[in-house]
Amino acid sequence: LKKLLRNLLPDPLQLTLQLDFFSPSAGPNSPHAPTPQIPGALQAPPQPKPGKPGIGRRHLQVREHLLEYGLRRSKRRSIGFIIDDDGLQVTAPRWVTIAEIEGAIREKEAWIFGKLAKRRERMAHMPPPMEWRDGASFPYLGRTLELRIANAQAQSARLDDDGNVLLISLPADAGEQQLKDLVLGWLQREARQLFGERLPVYAEKLGVQYRAFSLSSAQTQWGSCTADGRIRLNWRLMHFALPQIDYVIAHELAHLREMNHSPRFWATVQSVFPEFEAARRALREHAPSTLPVF
Ligand SMILES: [Zn+2]
Repeated sequence: LKKLLRNLLPDPLQLTLQLDFFSPSAGPNSPHAPTPQIPGALQAPPQPKPGKPGIGRRHLQVREHLLEYGLRRSKRRSIGFIIDDDGLQVTAPRWVTIAEIEGAIREKEAWIFGKLAKRRERMAHMPPPMEWRDGASFPYLGRTLELRIANAQAQSARLDDDGNVLLISLPADAGEQQLKDLVLGWLQREARQLFGERLPVYAEKLGVQYRAFSLSSAQTQWGSCTADGRIRLNWRLMHFALPQIDYVIAHELAHLREMNHSPRFWATVQSVFPEFEAARRALREHAPSTLPVF
């Protein structure tokens, strides 16, 4: 009977823990409403915004810790905890009291402090901003590429034989901007070539035809696709390993069959890219602040 009652009456303090990080982008199992976006656009993770509207910051003393958390009231029937880039976020029904919320936090403090510690560790491991000089390195196709700069009259950029060093030639009086432009130009040529090779592979698997593709350098989108088959892919994807690039390509091309993010769309992606969830997660969890700024 107890069990029956429990099923009939929703437990007001039932806790929903979302493991790992939260992204506002809608996915196949996402309980969140899709964020408004251009049809076919694949969102890059947004930069953390301090002081999100509609979220109040609160403090709670938990043993020796002063815990800060964001509280949002919602129509949901349970208290939810999420650790995101801003720390602990609590979502609770309007009728749950602060005392009950604080009780729920204390009940889950081991999980919360464990996750917060992992987040701190992750942030401490973020590399310092890119320095544009000889010996600097940046992520390239999932590995690390080192810049080796030599002086020469004519400027050029090419990979060494092992593919781990980008050999740069620049006039001795060249400034940082000239170096950035040279590396950017090289990366974009590489992107055009690689994307141009991968697009036909997935177009054939999906049985679709795209009309044209171009590079974008959007800050918040990895790719987009229009109904008439124009694909745009962010050259910054070149910082990621091939599976992540292939996922974005498969995603955009799959929109030529399903111009939405419905379960049918995700099933289409999965049919040609079964491991898409892992690639999605990798893209979503990658802090944009770790990508070099050009
Ligand atoms: Zn999409």
